[in-house]
Amino acid sequence: MERLYILGILFSLGIVSCQHKVKEEISETDTEVKDGVIVYEEYSGTEPTKPEETEFYEPKVPVVGSAMNGNIPADAIVLFDGSSLDGWIHVQDSTAAKWHLNKDGSMTVADKTGNIKTKQVFGDVQLHIEWSSPAEVQREGQNRANSGVFLDELYEVQVLDNNNNDTYVNGQVASIYKQHRPLAMASVPSGEWNAYDIIYHAPEFNADGNKIKSGTMTVLHNGVLVQDHIELKGTTPYIGWPKNPAHGKGALLLQDHGDNSRVSYRNIWVRELK
Ligand code: MG
Repeated sequence: MERLYILGILFSLGIVSCQHKVKEEISETDTEVKDGVIVYEEYSGTEPTKPEETEFYEPKVPVVGSAMNGNIPADAIVLFDGSSLDGWIHVQDSTAAKWHLNKDGSMTVADKTGNIKTKQVFGDVQLHIEWSSPAEVQREGQNRANSGVFLDELYEVQVLDNNNNDTYVNGQVASIYKQHRPLAMASVPSGEWNAYDIIYHAPEFNADGNKIKSGTMTVLHNGVLVQDHIELKGTTPYIGWPKNPAHGKGALLLQDHGDNSRVSYRNIWVRELK
């Protein structure tokens, strides 16, 4: 009996030790190239002989629900649900956002009031945002319903009515402005609602303020992949090269292009990526 008891303790210790190892293994993916072939360290060593040896139960996966059909995941931070503009301020003077709040749960750029941004700041995020351009089209090129979604206030995903409206491809709808043209043009007809789903990882800077890792962006436009994990080369200015100022967390910024764009936004939320 006593022997069984000791064996039980040893077995328990073995399980604890095994679980600890599993947690370490799935928290980091180390790779090494040997003889020109990638070797994944967590899949090296003695080949498992039992299915249980490659089945992990920790860490648990959070249950957040669907993001389809207008649903919002449980862990999302809602930035605009149509009820107020309380979470938004003007970039220029930090006053309350003066864009139009519409009865249908959307907001529309109030011409020449300036860009607005969230009061909250974020690092890496998954962003969902919907936008529409006026059904009644006006002007041409970059002056037809131009706005923009800026991550960390610096990196613009272009918003533009590109339907039968050509412009430079690295400035068309869903481009990373003046850096990456979109892989496809997926707009709905003018006046209908578009959706952007954006995965953004911020760049990293060292103590001297130099960039040591580029930011990245993946963009789905109405469910179509249009930016595939692109490298952000820096900021997205109208004139000049991308710049790389050091920064920490930043706001989500929406652009007033200053030419009566009448672009509207609705249903804006982010999930912070840890
Ligand atoms: Mg723009």
